[in-house]
Amino acid sequence: MATQALTLDIRNTRYFPGVFDIPNDGDAHPEFFDVVSRDSMLPRRRWCLLVEIKMHSEGTLRPTYEVKGVAGDEFRVAFYVGAPEFPTIVDHCQPGYTLAIMFAARNACIDDKLLIPVRTLREDIIQVLPCGIKEVYSISDKMNSPTLCAACRKPSSLKCGRCGLPFCDAVCMKENWKVEHKRQCVVAQKLREWSALDWEKF
Ligand SMILES: [Zn+2]
Ligand SMILES: [Zn+2]
Repeated sequence: MATQALTLDIRNTRYFPGVFDIPNDGDAHPEFFDVVSRDSMLPRRRWCLLVEIKMHSEGTLRPTYEVKGVAGDEFRVAFYVGAPEFPTIVDHCQPGYTLAIMFAARNACIDDKLLIPVRTLREDIIQVLPCGIKEVYSISDKMNSPTLCAACRKPSSLKCGRCGLPFCDAVCMKENWKVEHKRQCVVAQKLREWSALDWEKF
């Protein structure tokens, strides 16, 4: 049984930077962007901001969430998207879940709190992962230990057909599905998808 480990290290801050390491909104920072014309720039490579949702911000016009970043710093994410799209996002964003925001940039809001604007709900730009940031790391670690069962750490002998997470036997895999694998499978599939991308290219 050979499950492939991930080639992408989600602890690598070049690809998963903290909120203070991403560019300012609208700023053609040469580390992140190529300026193609006077009013157009393209990312030079990929980066993804991981944030954990703490709660919905009340009294805002657009769907806005209080979040915390990888280092525990707190800021906001606001969705600048059309009203018909609001329900989709609001349904999926829950406290404790992680938002993965590709090509994230930051703004300061009126009260000086940092704000990350999201202007598209395209799946390759914004993802809601149904677990906290720590669990995203733990899932990545399990994927990188292909010889150990993801549930009980015994030697693995089979893997999930969807995400490739290793398990010792079918009983353990079935039990773990109810406990955590149902949501972890979604996250593991996303990590595998990301791992197949070349993050040095746009
Ligand atoms: Zn097991
Ligand atoms: Zn799975």
